[in-house]
Amino acid sequence: MHRSDFPILAREVYGKPLVYLDNAATTQKPRAVVDAIAAEYYNTNANVHRGVHFLSQQATELHEAARERVRRFIHAAETAEIVFTRGTTESLNLVAYSYGEAFLKSGDEVILSVMEHHSNIVPWQMLRERKGIVLRVIPMDDDGNLDLEAYERLFSPRTRLVCVAHVSNVLGTVNPIARLCAIAHSHGAHFLADGAQSVPHFAVDVQALGVDFLTFSGHKMYGPTGIGVLYGRRELLEKMPPYQGGGEMIKRVSFEKTTYEDLPYKFEAGTPDYVGSNALAAAIDYIEGIRRDVISAHERELLHYATEQMLQIPGLHIYGRAAEKDAVISFNIEGIHHLDLGTLLDRLGIAIRTGHHCAQPLMDRCGTEGMARASFALYNTREEVDTFVEALQRVRRMF
Ligand code: PLP
Repeated sequence: MHRSDFPILAREVYGKPLVYLDNAATTQKPRAVVDAIAAEYYNTNANVHRGVHFLSQQATELHEAARERVRRFIHAAETAEIVFTRGTTESLNLVAYSYGEAFLKSGDEVILSVMEHHSNIVPWQMLRERKGIVLRVIPMDDDGNLDLEAYERLFSPRTRLVCVAHVSNVLGTVNPIARLCAIAHSHGAHFLADGAQSVPHFAVDVQALGVDFLTFSGHKMYGPTGIGVLYGRRELLEKMPPYQGGGEMIKRVSFEKTTYEDLPYKFEAGTPDYVGSNALAAAIDYIEGIRRDVISAHERELLHYATEQMLQIPGLHIYGRAAEKDAVISFNIEGIHHLDLGTLLDRLGIAIRTGHHCAQPLMDRCGTEGMARASFALYNTREEVDTFVEALQRVRRMF
């Protein structure tokens, strides 16, 4: 589907056609996105928000139009709730730091899940070091479903915030965010969904889900690297202090006292990645041009097809068998180290990811040091799945 929009997919690796199955790490970029980057540098480049001159105003308009584009994409109530960051990791660090300053005291509790990416663990541990907060962890069953009864039991009068991945980057589990969020709210806690692996794949509506925060990265959704989003409800963002200081985020500076800009600029110190924001808007246009339900149906079809084929391979174990699962398959083959598997597939032109996938606590839970992972995007095909599965069989025969 739409493969010719992605020039890189036509290249060869070691003389073999590239089969790119590392999309959960980052997706390839369509011409529309690369063209948007080039066009801005060629035609419109100027620093935003500061200039009275024509180019600066045009660049500012593009940057703010991108914010509105993102708002509509995730159905936020207003653009003041859309903060541009470097990506999911920075968005999560921003919340940990700033929400932590505003709302958390020693002994307050934050709930995470066992399947979180390190980006949604380490910032909270750093906050624990600074403030003495307590972290609680939602367990899961062997299929990769979060244990909702155990989740309910984790709440106490000190629970302030719950932070859970919408989709696990390892297991592919689509967590029941609306339900988890409603439970958090019924206990008076706020809720953050890490949307790094959901926003690229299906429609995410922050108001329908009810979340207080949502984080995601441009580069995982056909957009450029270095730009991401933090959505936060105005009421909370208003109460949270700035995360970094500098230009753009101030109203008035004197050596005695500085006043801060309104939302969302309070959280955007320094020259923003205005080329990235505009290219992210191009990526969103691209996705919506194809339609998210069409992309999602295609990827789910590949997921089921690949799962069926892979389960025919003796000794192959798939991690994550949740009923609600997105386009990620993590696996190991008995007797073959995942790194060897990845290296041999690479020689056949097939790019997959191997290792701990930035989720070591989850690796511990699954009783393994690492896994191989194939992950799908809109441009992958059944023929690529066939090539991949044949390669797995070939590697298995070699061992
Ligand atoms: N959260 C999840 C679920 C992820 O899959 C990733 C990236 O793999 C991240 C957070 C971090 O995203 P980034 O590296 O773009 O900041």
